[in-house]
Amino acid sequence: MSSAEAYVPSPQAQAFLDSVESPRYERESVNGLAPFLAQSAPADVLGFYSPDEIEALRPLTGTERDVEDRMPVKITRHYLNLARQSPALRVLVKATPEETADLAGSDDPGFQMDYSPVEGLLHKYEMGLMYVVSTCSAHCRFCYREELISRKEVERQDGSVAKKGLAKIDEITAYIRAHNAEVKANGGLHPETGREKLREILLSGGDPMVLPNARLAAWFAALAESGVESIRVGTKELAFFPDRFDSTFLSMLDRFHETFPDVALRLMVHFNHPDEFLAKDEGGDYIEEASGVLKWIPSTKRAMDGLTSRGWISVENQSPIIKGINDDPRALRILQRAIKRVGGDNHYFFCGRDIVAYRAFNVPIETAWNILNESQKGLSGVENHARLSITHYKGKTEVVAVTSEAIPGVPGTENGVVVLKLLRNALDAPDRGKVCIVGRNPEAIWFDGYEDRVVFDEAGLFEYARMEALVSKAMPVGAEGGA
Ligand code: SF4
Repeated sequence: MSSAEAYVPSPQAQAFLDSVESPRYERESVNGLAPFLAQSAPADVLGFYSPDEIEALRPLTGTERDVEDRMPVKITRHYLNLARQSPALRVLVKATPEETADLAGSDDPGFQMDYSPVEGLLHKYEMGLMYVVSTCSAHCRFCYREELISRKEVERQDGSVAKKGLAKIDEITAYIRAHNAEVKANGGLHPETGREKLREILLSGGDPMVLPNARLAAWFAALAESGVESIRVGTKELAFFPDRFDSTFLSMLDRFHETFPDVALRLMVHFNHPDEFLAKDEGGDYIEEASGVLKWIPSTKRAMDGLTSRGWISVENQSPIIKGINDDPRALRILQRAIKRVGGDNHYFFCGRDIVAYRAFNVPIETAWNILNESQKGLSGVENHARLSITHYKGKTEVVAVTSEAIPGVPGTENGVVVLKLLRNALDAPDRGKVCIVGRNPEAIWFDGYEDRVVFDEAGLFEYARMEALVSKAMPVGAEGGA
């Protein structure tokens, strides 16, 4: 799409862009394992890896078990300080030899490249997702975008192999305008895919909040002027570096809202554990305010307040449930209650994806359901909105229930069943709401663990021919783009 029609900001958009301040931020990140291996990291940082941990990692460097080939190591000073007081947070950011012991998994989980009509854009559901940057302030070891962050080559639908590219404003806005014009001309639905207008776009990566304000503003204005009604930003920066949400960022948001009052902003934040935002005393316990509620870390609370106090912005948390980090009902209960109390919402918890080395991180599906269910006992109705989702190739699928009793008279259900339901579905969501029931397998960490025990599959989660039909519909002739 190098010939994409260039986006030229309108005078009002240009006035907004001219008002944006873009300071530089000093996150004091430590990049890579090298400073630890060479003992060249700042003295107060070196002890973050013990000598034994370093010596276990050293021989893997340059081999096929190199942990940084899979996922580069990176951590901010803010997160490092929190992690010193939190075993869970240390698991989140510290590399270990175990993570490359079994490299089974997919370079392109969910076969996302099948739904990429323009480089850097996925258009699978009613909304679009863009990769706008390929790094974050720090890196989670379990990251399901490790192929993007470690700049791996992935196979495209046409068989070619290349690194995932980043979205470009001209190409993306040209695609949105062309898609929406086709939809309009066809009475509101795309003639081939049945989708509606592209109303909502997610800026993702990597973490868009590592970009300067001016770059974020350029995306916001371009999307707003292309007819997008809701902009999402997927970010873990509230956990990694909350000072990024400073007055220059918030005034950029205010100016954007004055210029484009009809465009909503949704911050999709990513807290995995309450240790990422609650203050602790020297003994490692959460601190209670005089009122009895748990105290937030002041900089994180300031950042949250800056967002939630602006009524046109919604803040939604979503998090995978990961082994050794948050497979803990008590931690998840505290997290859901604390986020809702300060004006955020609990959106999804996820079962880990089938990324490369997923067995090092994922907990079994039935265990994850049980952890979330336990965590929600005692939460109020508004605190317990989050559902457990597992991203099937066909779309987001809710793990609705796990029973411990058989369905009388139904073979294969002797140990109970797992009920799955399609929440979102590619294209015009033909199968949304449909259910799949499988016999239990407490060891299953991905769908393949249920392949031999499908009891009922109205949703078609185990019908591979139906999936292939969906892909060919998603990429009709002439829809392919890319650099
Ligand atoms: S913040 Fe998100 S994209 Fe970045 S490393 Fe963590 S999981 Fe991956």
